[in-house]
Amino acid sequence: MQCVICKTGEVKSAKTQAEIKVGSDHLLVPVDAEVCVQCGEAYYSTDTMRYLEQVKDNFVRKLIAPPLVGHVYQVP
Ligand SMILES: [Zn+2]
Repeated sequence: MQCVICKTGEVKSAKTQAEIKVGSDHLLVPVDAEVCVQCGEAYYSTDTMRYLEQVKDNFVRKLIAPPLVGHVYQVP
C-alpha cells in the first residue's frame, strides 16, 4: 500500500506510538499500525481505533492512571 499523505512512501506494519489528545493532556499508546516509511504517517485499523477510544474513555473516567513522562509548557 502507498501512503496517501506523501504519495511516495511505502506503508508497512510496525509498532508505533499513537498520540491521543485529551484537553491539554496527551496520551502515548503503543499500538500496531501501518506506518509510512517516508513521512511516518500512521494508519490504524478499526480495532486499534476502537482500542484507542477505549483508552481515552478510561483515562477521562480516571479508570487508568498511566505514568507521567513529560510536561507541556506554554510560552506566553
Ligand atoms: Zn507518507
